[in-house]
Amino acid sequence: MDLQAIVDEALDYADHYRGHGALASYIPALAKVDPNKLAIALVTGDGESYAAGDADELFSVQSISKVFTLSLALNQVSAGLWNHVGREPSGSPFNSIVQLEAEKGKPRNPLINAGAIVVCDQLIGSRDADAALDEILAFLRQRCGDRDIGIDMDVALSESRAGNLNRSLAYFVNAFGNLSNPVEEVLSVYFRQCAVAMSCRQLARAALYLAYDGVDPLTGEAVVTPSRARRINALMLTCGHYDNSGDFAFRIGLPGKSGVGGGVLAIVPGTGVMVVWSPGLNAAGTSLAGAVALERLVELTGWSIFV
Ligand code: GLN
Repeated sequence: MDLQAIVDEALDYADHYRGHGALASYIPALAKVDPNKLAIALVTGDGESYAAGDADELFSVQSISKVFTLSLALNQVSAGLWNHVGREPSGSPFNSIVQLEAEKGKPRNPLINAGAIVVCDQLIGSRDADAALDEILAFLRQRCGDRDIGIDMDVALSESRAGNLNRSLAYFVNAFGNLSNPVEEVLSVYFRQCAVAMSCRQLARAALYLAYDGVDPLTGEAVVTPSRARRINALMLTCGHYDNSGDFAFRIGLPGKSGVGGGVLAIVPGTGVMVVWSPGLNAAGTSLAGAVALERLVELTGWSIFV
């Protein structure tokens, strides 16, 4: 299979949707991003990468970060994490608060905002917030072999200033006793982890362990246990795109995670990782052109977890 030709063709196909959708303007710094960006990176288990478009340009990873913090938190607190957060799709928007009341402050899953905030709190544990953030950054740098990865503080501050809804979620969870650290400390990690800037190629490389049963195929490192890798993928398939998860599974059929920066991660178990980026979002916060590109990529490669 000529993967470079496939990546090029998928970019060409999605080009028609370039600039479609809406920027995540509720975070003012993200409203300034060029809506016409479009990129694809595919990294395979042998370390080869195939890219098209702006695949080396940094963008705000936003909720894609939740997959990495979930991996770290599971390593840290093991199955005890599930006392604090559930594993069911929410069928609701990423920042919804409605289910939290009936479900007594236990978020449906770790990939919605409330769930990721709880994961953040568990990851902080008894450390201070900056130590947890350092761990997240060190993890990402190691996973993609690039020590320059960092946080776009403009985005982090912008999100914090506009963060009333996330603050509400955190206080609500806290009211039910489901946070062990102060709300502002937890949010300071959450906002900064979402504001990490990475390229499509870096993200695809970083997530490779999820395509190989938790083992980084390039370094041989056991990043998470095989069963955790499988479960993280299961959560991505069922919850990775919030109220758009069913449609994403139907159209693309791979475990994935979207972020409101316009990036979408898709895991192809045993083969590699694809990451697309285009900042225009659909109503659920998934990249519109990005999802089209992924749809075309699975069509052209025949990759599926269902064969
Ligand atoms: N940082 C964003 C928020 O909290 C993450 C949402 C997303 O990417 N879906 O609103």
